[in-house]
Amino acid sequence: MSSLTEPHRIDPGHQADLAGRPSREDGGLAKSDATKQLRKLIKRLDALQELMYAESKHSLLVVFQAMDAGGKDSTIRNVLGPLNPQGVRVASFKQPSTLERAHDFLWRIHQQCPGGGHIGIFNRSHYEDVLVVRVKNLVEPAIWKRRFEHINAFEKLLTDEGTVIVKFFLHISRKYQRKRLQRRLDRPDKHWKFDPSDLAERAHWDAYQQAFEEALTRCSTPWAPWYVVPAERRWYRNLIVAKVLVDTLESLKMQYPEPKIDPATIQID
Ligand code: ATP
Ligand code: MG
Repeated sequence: MSSLTEPHRIDPGHQADLAGRPSREDGGLAKSDATKQLRKLIKRLDALQELMYAESKHSLLVVFQAMDAGGKDSTIRNVLGPLNPQGVRVASFKQPSTLERAHDFLWRIHQQCPGGGHIGIFNRSHYEDVLVVRVKNLVEPAIWKRRFEHINAFEKLLTDEGTVIVKFFLHISRKYQRKRLQRRLDRPDKHWKFDPSDLAERAHWDAYQQAFEEALTRCSTPWAPWYVVPAERRWYRNLIVAKVLVDTLESLKMQYPEPKIDPATIQID
């Protein structure tokens, strides 16, 4: 992994230390250089996805979590939007339906996991079941407490079966969230995005940070690491996410499959 992204990874067994991590950062880069780098990384990512499809051994699962207005949608649009849509699928997890609620918390998640050759993007995820569920007391503490182990085992299963997992927490400050929510009130084209319930969630800011702290600490594993991405400079956020994804896919050392034909013997008239 590169020196650019490594500081943002939570080393397994270490405290996430969200309070000690920056939410605004430029990594010593100028915006114009970072934007150029990002364009190249996105092209590379597109090529790597095609290679992954050709080889069909692996899939990639990308998890995004953040506080409201943390930039999940915009990161997905900017970094993964330019890829071949046939190779990418986004799953957004909202409040569970009655049917989903009647099953274990991973039931709906497993169905959305990417198959061989594909990139699956989770806009929210199974982590909601140790975040909002914990903060809002939606189940007994004894139940959410044992979910960390279930999550690690589930992610290990996916990894053993060929899915590579990376998880991003888009880190913003409370002050920055205020600014982004205010923007939704100030701009008529953003009014539709304003959800009064976001204010109720914001009131639980500290409880959410505490829940994220524990989830990221306990579930950053060698097979499915968490990255805390400083998300207040959007160009830096996009760069880090793209770089982690490219480095992750490159580390797989994928190969095009052996051709079933000998191209030298074929003549097209
Ligand atoms: P937007 O950026 O458009 O607001 P969003 O991801 O916030 O996107 P919403 O429909 O506003 O989408 O919110 C989804 C809500 O569903 C969130 O408040 C989230 O915490 C909640 N949710 C997701 N998964 C669960 C779960 N397992 N249990 C309870 N609530 C959940
Ligand atoms: Mg919302």
